[in-house]
Amino acid sequence: MIASDLRSGVERLGDMIAEAKTIVPFTGAGISTECGIPDFRSPGGLWTSNRPIEFSEFVASRDARDESWRRRFAMEEVFAAARPGRGHRALASLYRAGKVPAVITQNIDNLHQASGFAAEHVIELHGNTTYAKCIGCGQSYPLDWVKVRFDQDGAAPNCTICDEPVKTATISFGQMMPEDEMQRAAELSRACDLFIAIGSSLVVWPAAGFPMMAKNNGARLVIINREPTDQDDLADLVIRHDIGETLGPFVGN
Ligand SMILES: [Zn+2]
Repeated sequence: MIASDLRSGVERLGDMIAEAKTIVPFTGAGISTECGIPDFRSPGGLWTSNRPIEFSEFVASRDARDESWRRRFAMEEVFAAARPGRGHRALASLYRAGKVPAVITQNIDNLHQASGFAAEHVIELHGNTTYAKCIGCGQSYPLDWVKVRFDQDGAAPNCTICDEPVKTATISFGQMMPEDEMQRAAELSRACDLFIAIGSSLVVWPAAGFPMMAKNNGARLVIINREPTDQDDLADLVIRHDIGETLGPFVGN
């Protein structure tokens, strides 16, 4: 059912949240746009003006690694300035209230953690861009560590332990999906009685599969997104409005 207007949508959502025992939110780029984080995939986004660097290129080519880090540092001001929006804060309120065990996200901006979720309760399907990781041994590095060496040598540094390349802790195109996270996301989707997809077009696999998994296990499904999604027909409630405005009333509850 598509909510006829914002008010009736929020009201219905409020009832469904009150009736639910276990709510699992699934978030995409739309929840972070009011925080100034661009949707990289959208028209005019980073990936329409810059072709994404695939994982195999990153591994094979020093130029690709340097270019990838140049792009990341160019975005640092945006990521460093971003603060959780109303959507993040509403979910954090439900998390503190014990209704939300964890959030599944396609975002890499660390804003769920910044809103109050413990790191182990944020299931990041695409990783995290606010720190770096060695692609060989998995050692974590702060971005500043990379930046200092990049500025010094004009080239991206390798791991001090195993000498493999260091990359943002994100999942690139062509890189394997993180198995643990996929597993946990599937378990959460099957165990909830209310699944709320927020700000995702639900097109990209595996994102598209989780709402269906929840629905097939008896959960109610709510989709909040400005644009229609591929899964709207499955949903018990569809709210096509601004995410901040839709979830704002649930901040602090
Ligand atoms: Zn290493």
